Amino acid sequence: MQPIICDACRQPTVAHDVVNYGSMEGGYRQLCGRCFNEAAANRLGLQGFEHVGFEPVCMIDARGIEHEFQFRTRLFGPGVAIDAFELRDGSPAGYEFQVIGKPDGDPLELLARIFHATTTG
Ligand SMILES: [Zn+2]
Repeated sequence: MQPIICDACRQPTVAHDVVNYGSMEGGYRQLCGRCFNEAAANRLGLQGFEHVGFEPVCMIDARGIEHEFQFRTRLFGPGVAIDAFELRDGSPAGYEFQVIGKPDGDPLELLARIFHATTTG
């Protein structure tokens, strides 16, 4: 799958981490997760919001099958959402989890909540 070039930082970005950011009037830009979060933080006047990228994590389910989870962090006004999802052929598929926290909260704490949700069903 071809990476998409972020319109802000010009870095190649995997498709599932690209956000169309903008408005009907002003047009849309394709931003990577980091640039999207920085733009959202600026617009919301959030000081000190830090985009945290997570490395993919491998987990083994109750049947002994390996699952590799990718992470995506999105700032959306009142909170920050972290998605954990599996990729199949480059697209999100399979298990998917989301936790919502405060923008100034600890992202690692959110991540711990995802793993708790994952392992307890
Ligand atoms: Zn970018």
